[in-house]
Amino acid sequence: MKAVILHGPENYPNNYEVMDIEKPVCGKKDILLKMKAAALCGTDKRIFTGGKTKGVRPDSVVGHEICGVIEEVGEEVQGYSAGEKVAIANVIPCGHCSACLSGRENACLNRKAIGYEFNGGFEEYIRVPDICIESGNVVKLPESVSYAAGALIEPLACCIRGLYNTGTGFNDTVLIIGAGPIGLMHLQLSLIAGAQKVIVSELDPEKRELALKLGACRAVDSSKEDLHAIVMEETGGEGVDRIVMAIGVNALVDSTFKLAKKGGTVCLFAGFPKGRMSEFDPSVIHYNELNITGSTAYKRSDYLQAADMVINGKIDLDAIVSAKFKLEDFREALDLHMAGTALKVVIED
Ligand SMILES: [Zn+2]
Ligand SMILES: [Zn+2]
Repeated sequence: MKAVILHGPENYPNNYEVMDIEKPVCGKKDILLKMKAAALCGTDKRIFTGGKTKGVRPDSVVGHEICGVIEEVGEEVQGYSAGEKVAIANVIPCGHCSACLSGRENACLNRKAIGYEFNGGFEEYIRVPDICIESGNVVKLPESVSYAAGALIEPLACCIRGLYNTGTGFNDTVLIIGAGPIGLMHLQLSLIAGAQKVIVSELDPEKRELALKLGACRAVDSSKEDLHAIVMEETGGEGVDRIVMAIGVNALVDSTFKLAKKGGTVCLFAGFPKGRMSEFDPSVIHYNELNITGSTAYKRSDYLQAADMVINGKIDLDAIVSAKFKLEDFREALDLHMAGTALKVVIED
């Protein structure tokens, strides 16, 4: 079968190849999944270029936003059968570490994940191991949900965790920095949570246009317009209640803090390059009593909520898919993804 083998973190773009490997064997407690959609994510950018190495094995298959059809069910697995459409919550918490036991399974100290410790979505057939099935990470989907939308339940779940951490609710004013797929999900979720208005800051004109279509009150080109002035104009000079940084740009942290209202919350949602520092004025946090938070992965409950929203048509994920490629054209897909101009790039079979 075809698979994208990532040899190691160095020498991008020569560190991976699309090649034939043995089809995985479905163990007694496993499910073998036929991949139908696997989406590329900002994290994959960092993995392929060596910026993220934790859990990534040499000569393995990555890809963690996955939807497929069950090809084979191990004889000891109950509750699933061949032919069912499922999406995979790829993060498997241990359930017994201090993070798990204090209600933060998304930050599990011993987490295992498909696309990291186990081979992921960029291959024709994926072995879903027993611990993934037992922990409820295989979620059935109805015919009405597209495979691409099924794969995007995973990043949506991450955004739902981010929404909870940001605390966005009724009548809040919200600013989202970056209108890539993640920013656009945060936009939709903020409005669903009851935000009064959502301002989006984004350099790309097409993404700004889509943000307006999806309900943003302003879509600001901060290279040409004064974001600070616009935020103050929209909020009676007070700043916004909630800010989500959906792009991990260190240089923007300081100016972003200054856009929050007194007592406001800033969520550093995006992954930032490891080890790179940001300079900011701590007196802004002090005098404005800001809450600064982050967000990592998702709890299984977030994933189930994300799946529920998609199944019930409460959020438009297909709108943020801009290109689909076959597995054999993975290189083309990754090039487009790396260019940063597209929204979601999805590998489909
Ligand atoms: Zn992702
Ligand atoms: Zn744990």
